[in-house]
Amino acid sequence: MNPKVAYFSMEIGIDKDLHTYSGGLGVLAGDTLKSAADLEMPVIGVSLIHRKGYLKQEIKDGYQQDSEDPWDVKKYCTKLEHSVTVPLFDSEVTVEGHLYELKGANGNKLPIIFLDTSSNSNPYFASLTDRLYGGDQEYRLCQEVILGIGGAKLLEAMGHNLDIYHMNEGHASLLTVQLLNSMKGNLSKKIKLLKDKCVFTTHTPVAAGHDIFPKDMALNVLSQWSDELKQYVLDEDKLNTTTLALKSSHFSNAVARKHGFVSHEMFPNHKIHYITNGIHVNTWMHREIKQVVKKYVPLWDTHPEGLKEVMACSRKEIFDAHQNAKSELVEYINKKQNLNFNKDTFTIGFARRATGYKRSHLLFKDIEQLKKLSEEKGGLQIVYAGKSHPKDTEGKEHMKRVLETGYNLPGDIKFVYLSEYDMDLAKVMIPGVDLWLNTPLRPKEASGTSGMKAAANAVPSLSILDGWWIEGHMEGVTGWAIGTENESHEDQDYYDSINLYKKLSIILPLYYKDKDKWIDIMKNSLAINGSYFNTNRMVKEYVSRAYFR
Ligand SMILES: *Cc1c(COP(=O)(O)O)cnc(C)c1O
Repeated sequence: MNPKVAYFSMEIGIDKDLHTYSGGLGVLAGDTLKSAADLEMPVIGVSLIHRKGYLKQEIKDGYQQDSEDPWDVKKYCTKLEHSVTVPLFDSEVTVEGHLYELKGANGNKLPIIFLDTSSNSNPYFASLTDRLYGGDQEYRLCQEVILGIGGAKLLEAMGHNLDIYHMNEGHASLLTVQLLNSMKGNLSKKIKLLKDKCVFTTHTPVAAGHDIFPKDMALNVLSQWSDELKQYVLDEDKLNTTTLALKSSHFSNAVARKHGFVSHEMFPNHKIHYITNGIHVNTWMHREIKQVVKKYVPLWDTHPEGLKEVMACSRKEIFDAHQNAKSELVEYINKKQNLNFNKDTFTIGFARRATGYKRSHLLFKDIEQLKKLSEEKGGLQIVYAGKSHPKDTEGKEHMKRVLETGYNLPGDIKFVYLSEYDMDLAKVMIPGVDLWLNTPLRPKEASGTSGMKAAANAVPSLSILDGWWIEGHMEGVTGWAIGTENESHEDQDYYDSINLYKKLSIILPLYYKDKDKWIDIMKNSLAINGSYFNTNRMVKEYVSRAYFR
């Protein structure tokens, strides 16, 4: 099948052995392509090879130690015959590609191309596809030239004639340079043609997530392109990758309803729709849960909307399946750290990139409260995981606090921080806990997807009302909210933590004393949220609303 849509992303998470992702953004890109493959959509993925990965994490003496994380490219990919050269500074860089074939549910294959500059003799050029989010600002800009311009040029060289270029985040926005350059006519006509082809998804309201480069740096890196093109990519005196992508696309979207409103406030001159994220059910559902689901929903993997039919399963079936998944996590923890975790104790899970706004320390704001809750309501176990970007000092600081506090909790609360959070650990950890906790600072969580993975495993969420949870939350039905959607307070951490403990004092007695009601909430999570918050539904929305409109 000839691809009609090219999906560009700086990171794509397919499998833990391909170290081409750092967190939610990359996993979402991988899940999107997996669903596109299941739906037999004519899509081709484009990213960088990231030979040295994102980072390998070791936790030593309460600190994260990080190092390179190389992977075995040859084992998973085949090198393409085609290569292209891309102007960079006053020189040229050679860009090669490696093909990875993603298998869809019907055995069909969706191609993903990982771009590679390692064959260049110039050592700086050769290093440009080494490290995901590594290096300085100029390194990042050069990576974006390779991704956008190199990617678009390589697709052309391979003879692909594409209708749509989907930019997953602003990182890919320089593909507009290559597309404009290969078009004929005056600029306004070319921009119209460009907009017909481009779609853009923005993924974060956090400023650091929007790449903005100084004019001088941009002009230096892009020095060989025409004045017209340089003029086009600049926004006043900067290269702003987000506004470049916005002005080049006929359809731009945020990744949840709330994020749509927030993005519109950030970029009032642009129409920004929203398409709420999802997860790839077959990737994230534990095999024990699949066994139950299969009995009630024969086509659960290719038609996850049918997951609502899980409502018909018995409480015992779903709870037994969950306990089996939980045993796997408990064994994993006890083998790693010998902490005597118990599968009959209520267990809270928290794992994601360790960065400031995610507020991993919120659960530990008032240790006395937490101790009282555990002692009076039946016992508590807490499982944490997550990597911090090497240069994210705030994120590292939070992680250090969580480690210090967690391993010194009073009373009988058990705590573990598991190292090396990746797709494999997420697959063990998320289905194995009883409650999935998320405590971002509003409105910074664009969507969040780990709570959707929890729902697909019948694990309810306790979360701040932000991102997807505003749409997925029904109080006491699919989980619980911390605080309200709009109220703000001077000391938001304090206010949110009071609410967090209040909700835990409702949740723990349900778990220990009203199992039937508890299991009903588990079933609701899977049936109601699992049937909607999946990438199968999401990809169909992209097709009908963004690609072919
Ligand atoms: C799903 C996932 C994430 C995203 O988690 P959020 O809570 O949505 O931020 C990050 N890392 C890994 C390895 C994941 O699987």
